[in-house]
Formats: sequence, structure tokens, C-alpha cells
Amino acid sequence: MKYSNYDIFNHWKDKKIKDMYILIDFNEPSCWGCGKPINENFFSEDVVLTWEKTKGKLERCHIIPKALGGKDELDNLFLLCKKCHKLSPDTTDKNAFLIWVYNKRRSSLMGYDFKGTIDSFKLALESFDIKEEDFIKYYNEFEKTINMNELFTDQVNVHLGELQLSSMTYLVASKLNDFIKSKKILPV
Ligand SMILES: [Zn+2]
Repeated sequence: MKYSNYDIFNHWKDKKIKDMYILIDFNEPSCWGCGKPINENFFSEDVVLTWEKTKGKLERCHIIPKALGGKDELDNLFLLCKKCHKLSPDTTDKNAFLIWVYNKRRSSLMGYDFKGTIDSFKLALESFDIKEEDFIKYYNEFEKTINMNELFTDQVNVHLGELQLSSMTYLVASKLNDFIKSKKILPV
């Protein structure tokens, strides 16, 4: 394919579907469908490099599939994670694709799964045998000792553009468990 991920980004960067900009943050690439960040350590001030390095993480897909006459033109190319690529409509109707993107994005922005996050975190705490009273007693103090952004950037891997909830909840539960243990050995 003659166009790079940067070329595709550059083509779409100021375009909208209805009232929604397709791209949210130029320097932190995410899937243009579900909006999940491609969270790796390659972000730089250089926007060309940043987008070139999404190669393999964001897939170049044809809005109108090649098999149905879609061309290798920038207006027919789009960047999605593997999962969204699979789920996206493959038709000759460009608008069907764009409206699918619009709804996908709206639902992932507006319907962020807080309940799922809480359930996953509860399960992780249980798995580490962290008691509720210890959680209440130590969590605030623990949170001050840890930089969550750094933790997730340095210690969480993203598979094919998808950040697994369990990566975050189990990592935090494990760190909290260590913290509580250290406090119990050395009481203040
Ligand atoms: Zn996606």
C-alpha cells in the first residue's frame, strides 16, 4: 500500500462525522472506532513518527472493500484496531461505514464501563485476599505513593490496540497488596 499511517492520519485529522472529530489527540494515537489508546512508549513530539509507529497496532482498512471496488485512496482508508476492523461494515456504502464509526465512538465515550471496572477491581481485590477493612484503611495512603499514569504506561502491555481492564485492576490490586503487607510488617 502506497500510503502510510501518517498519510491517512494527515488526511482525516481535521475531518468530522456529523458533529464529531474523527481524531481526538494527535500525539496519542487511539483506534478511530472504539477510541482505545495505542498505549506504548513511543509517543514523541514528532507527529509523523508517532503515527508511523502505529503501524501494526492500528490496521489500515478500506472503507469500501477492495473486493467491492474500493480504491487505495486516502479517502477510502481508515485506521482501526484489529477488533474494530473485524466488526466494521464491509459494504459499497461509505456512509454506512462512517455512521458505524460515529455510533461506535459515541457509545464507547458515553457508555464507559464504570460498573465493569468496579466489578473487575472487586474481583482482583478478592483474588489477592484483600479485606474490605484493609482497603478502606490503606487505599488513600497507597494512592499517594503511586503514580497511576506511570504505572500503566510502564507496566501494562496493550494487545492489538486493546487495553484489558484486568491488566489495570489486577496490577493495582497486586501493588496495594504489597503496600498493605509492608504496612502490617512495619506498623506506623
Ligand atoms: Zn477499536
